[in-house]
Amino acid sequence: MHHFDYRNGELCCEEVPLSAIAEAVGTPAYVYSSATLERHFDVFKNAFAPRDVLVAFAVKANANIAIIETLARRGAGADTVSRGEIMRALKGGVPHDRIIFSGVGKTEDELSFAIEKHVHQINVESIAELDALSRLAAARNARPAVAIRVNPDVGAGGHEKISTGRGDAKFGVSIAQAEALYARAAADPHLSPKGLAVHIGSQIKDLAPLEAAFRLLRISVERLRAAGMEVTRVDLGGGLGVPYFHEPAPPSPDAYAAMITRVFSGLDVALAIEPGRAIAANAGVLLSRVIRTQERPGRPILVLDAGMNDLIRPAIYDAYHDIKPARAPADAEDVLTYDVVGPICETGDTFARNRALPKLNDGDLVAFMSAGAYGATMASTYNARALSPEVLVRGGRFSVIRRRWTVEEQIALEMLPEPTP
Ligand SMILES: *Cc1c(COP(=O)(O)O)cnc(C)c1O
Repeated sequence: MHHFDYRNGELCCEEVPLSAIAEAVGTPAYVYSSATLERHFDVFKNAFAPRDVLVAFAVKANANIAIIETLARRGAGADTVSRGEIMRALKGGVPHDRIIFSGVGKTEDELSFAIEKHVHQINVESIAELDALSRLAAARNARPAVAIRVNPDVGAGGHEKISTGRGDAKFGVSIAQAEALYARAAADPHLSPKGLAVHIGSQIKDLAPLEAAFRLLRISVERLRAAGMEVTRVDLGGGLGVPYFHEPAPPSPDAYAAMITRVFSGLDVALAIEPGRAIAANAGVLLSRVIRTQERPGRPILVLDAGMNDLIRPAIYDAYHDIKPARAPADAEDVLTYDVVGPICETGDTFARNRALPKLNDGDLVAFMSAGAYGATMASTYNARALSPEVLVRGGRFSVIRRRWTVEEQIALEMLPEPTP
């Protein structure tokens, strides 16, 4: 469910025509719907009621402070994977005790920062990290809350590059190791072990692998308790898929929550989930203009002003994004089959092949749908391009929440070396 629809022949975000936004900020530009973000967050939160869960939005999906703030106002926490993301979460108004710090490569500087900010929980992924954290906590006379990230050896996820739960992935430790690490943390005066964490992948379209991982987690919690240790939390990660238009719909947040409630029924434990994509993807579009259409033997090419530097998902994950013209096509309008490409000097800069679209002309606006997650956060300045602006819509109004980062501004950070004497 999202708030991008045609009204009076114009594709709108809530009540604002996308053409008005393109007029104001230029293209390419990311446009987000606050009503959609809020709705998605509420659906997750309410799906567990009356059980209270910490819904920690995975900041890496969309790290703009205005997006974080929109969710934080509703009670969201944040799942973060770097010092920068913790800074963004705090700036967006997420209380420190709703911030989870995950990630396989936290530096000592980052661990220290998380300790000093008193985050809700640090998800530890190895014995070396646990020992480093203990040492850093001791030096600060602190006792950070810790969860051990389990790798349950369950494969899942919409693409090999976003599957994280198989035994040979770089994430987490085996169940047996996790229990040993938990015991080690429990015996450490500078660590406060709270529970276990898991995150098995992204764009998961089937509840079965998630359920298998969660059952293993429950058994492990019961074993730790039987051994006399206190376990008060489990963190179930993110990963629930979203419909990218042409696929069968993934499980709903309600079905996901019902499964979790079933798996953990009767276990007195605080639950956290870390959805990223499922909250943000369908809340955003990338708006782009047709530079020109090129005839070619075979089929025409639609050259857009957005490139793989703006939206890299098709290039690296073969991701599908629905493309909609900003002006509603008339019923009788010609449909053509296009290859849709960007201006970047790489063949990978192809958004879609063989895509049926109403006939488009130079200067027409199009929107890449479901671009609100892993869109702007993965953008780069490749080919010396500006970084696209971001706009947040609320009802009939819109705000620029990141202005365009121009090439002039980028060059201003660079300098020539001192001439050698
Ligand atoms: C990426 C990530 C998430 C969010 O994944 P989605 O598929 O966007 O829901 C949650 N937790 C951790 C640890 C992650 O690395």
